[in-house]
Formats: sequence, structure tokens, C-alpha cells
Amino acid sequence: MNEGIADVLLRTAFALKGDFSRGIRPSKKLFDDVEITAFFGAARGAVTISADFELEWAFRGLKLEEQKLMGVRSRRNVPIVLEILAEQSIPITWATVGHLFLESCERGQCGLAHPEMPRPPRNPHWRGDWYMHDPCTNVDEDPGWYAPDLIELIDSSEVRHEIGTHSFSHIDFSKQCSNELLVRRELEESSKVMEPFGLRPRSLVYPRNSMGHQYLELLGDLNITSVRHRDTAIRLSYPERSECGVYKLYESMNLRKGNGYKYLSKAKIFLDEAMNCEAAYHFWFHPSDPTELFENEFHDIVCCIAALRNRGEIWVATMSEIAAYCEARQKIKLDVCRNGKSIKIRVDSSYDAVRFGNTDVTLRVPLSHLPKRCLVRSGGEEKTIDGNAETGGACEGRTLLINVPASAEELEVVL
Ligand SMILES: [Zn+2]
Ligand SMILES: [Zn+2]
Repeated sequence: MNEGIADVLLRTAFALKGDFSRGIRPSKKLFDDVEITAFFGAARGAVTISADFELEWAFRGLKLEEQKLMGVRSRRNVPIVLEILAEQSIPITWATVGHLFLESCERGQCGLAHPEMPRPPRNPHWRGDWYMHDPCTNVDEDPGWYAPDLIELIDSSEVRHEIGTHSFSHIDFSKQCSNELLVRRELEESSKVMEPFGLRPRSLVYPRNSMGHQYLELLGDLNITSVRHRDTAIRLSYPERSECGVYKLYESMNLRKGNGYKYLSKAKIFLDEAMNCEAAYHFWFHPSDPTELFENEFHDIVCCIAALRNRGEIWVATMSEIAAYCEARQKIKLDVCRNGKSIKIRVDSSYDAVRFGNTDVTLRVPLSHLPKRCLVRSGGEEKTIDGNAETGGACEGRTLLINVPASAEELEVVL
């Protein structure tokens, strides 16, 4: 059997399993004939990668040697992962357990670790205090519980990764195991420990993939703009905006070995489907996974994503960048005014850049010929920006793609 037939069969198998069930499609954003494209750069699909970065915190309740192994393996893998991502210039979101930002911590007078933090109302994973495994030492003595060194390493990479949050102490966001006070304090504490690094969390990955969407409004108040969402029926979707402006980014697949097939083949099929339906493909992993998975499957998938990105077919972005783009697209209205000499596009925006971060939006402007120049104006200043004639597709050569800052007040295309 040749590779082609094998892939066709594999695609059919995933389709029969329901992996390509229809998710949300982006609504068209058309103002006269000017469009804000679904993704940055008018890419056909988006890709985001997230890591659940936790060292030993996620593995409390396992046998001690297994728990330790996860910490050791994560420490070994993080530099390997960073190198693979740097080679291909792929930024990802590191959803990091807040405690890892600490260099050290101390036991409280009552004998408990972090006595100031609330405890979960229920813990099905072990008996005893929620923080009983915390060694209350420092990164040199117990490198499985603290990781300011690795966070510095991620933050100093030449690729601009996002450092998000995975809660302060890897809590379970389910209804039984959490409450509003716990969630609020976990997020506040995460922000507090990130502040000395000049970071603030915008993206959240729920520990154990236990969806805590009942807290979306609270999370929005705490400046979270995106969460990773698990839907067993939908693997590929356009990001879903909740009423409070927190975006659900649907997970597509996690790192593993293919079960009787090449895992890269699965990724290629999913990426292709994502591009066919304007979806965001979301790949995620644990840095504690076996090292060979990073050297093989992860490496190959990252290279495949980079090749698609280099051809302009997909947009690779972190979770918060995707939320920012979708939000700007949601909150911007255009007022298009054409005369013989120019097209003036006034940008009417209620986009909250403090909460979501700065972003550009891509405008698709139909034209009969290439313009002399494009000018963008805001705050009394004027700058020249480049537009690119769109290649491929039905509009070949007759449309211009222009990336405009969401903060712009006016764009003028001089003909
Ligand atoms: Zn501690
Ligand atoms: Zn986790």
C-alpha cells in the first residue's frame, strides 16, 4: 500500500469517527467591499500550540518515583522543545503553574505550606492538605517544584513565546472541586508571582482539562482573554467568543505516538481540514512527555506547521494573539469612502487593547490597479505602510492585503 492510499484511509477513519464535525465558522466582516479577514494575513487557517507546564505539581497523588520522573523529564525536555521551536520560529503558549515562578517558599507557622491560600472544597486525588507535597525549600534543593530558571529560558528565547497560566497550584476547576473564591485567589496569586518577570497572564489552560467555563465571567474580570476548550465532538473550529469576551480555543490533538499510523500524517490531515473550514488547529502537549516524542513526532509536526506558515497558508500564533485578533475583528467597524484618487477607510473601534494586547487586523481591499501608497493615521500621526497584492484564489492580482494596527483611526489607499 502506498502512502497516498494510507492517508486517504486515515482521513476516512478520522471522518467516520466524527473528528471533522462542523465547528463554528467565522462570520463575514464586510464593510462595503472591504473585508476584515478571518485570520491575520488572510491565512486560510490558524495554528496554536500550548504546553501544560507544571513539573511535579500535576502529578501529586501518583507514586513518588513517577511524580519525580515527571519533574526530571520536564526539566530535560524544555530546552529541547525550545530549540525545535527556535529553529522553525514557532511561538507557543506555555500555560505555567504559578508556583513555578517562585525561587523558594517557606512553611507557615501553622506548619502548612501557603496558609494564606484557600484550599479546594474537595480533593479526590489524595488525602491530606492540598499543599502537603510542597517541599517549602528552594529551586536548588527541589527543582521539581520551582522553575524561575526555566521561565527565564523560555522568556529569553529569540521566539516571542506567550507565558500563560495553569492556575497557581494546579487546581481542578470542576464544580465539585472549586469555588469562586478559590479561582479568584489562584488567578490573583498567579498574576502576583508573574509580575516580577514583567509578565501577566492572558491565557489559561484548565488543569486536567477539567473545563471551568462556569467561571468565564470571573476569568474575564481577571483579564483572561482565552482558555483552551475541550469538546469531544468538535476538534476544529473558529475561536468561540463568550459573552464576557473570553475566547474558547478548541483543542484538536495532543502529542502522542500514532496508534498504527504516523502521527505526523494525522497532523497533516487535521491541518488540511482546518484550512478547508477556516478553523484554528490547536495542538498541545506536556513537557513531561517522553523525550523521544519531542525528538520525533513533535519535531516533525512543528516542521510541517512551519512549512505551511512559510507558504502563507496558515497563521501561527499564541493563544492570546488569536484572541486579540478575533476580538479586534469583532470590535472594529469600517467606514469606506472612495473617490477617484483614493480610498479612505475610517476605523471605528471599541477594541480594548489594554486587556487583549496590541494587534493588527488584515484588510482585504479590492482594487483595479496597485496603489501609489498606503497611509495609516492615528493620534495626529501619519505613517506609510505596505500592502501586498493577494496571490492565488479567485481574486488573484485584484485585491490588496493590508495589515493595519487595531489602534489606527484611518487608512488611506492612494491610487
Ligand atoms: Zn510553596
Ligand atoms: Zn496540568
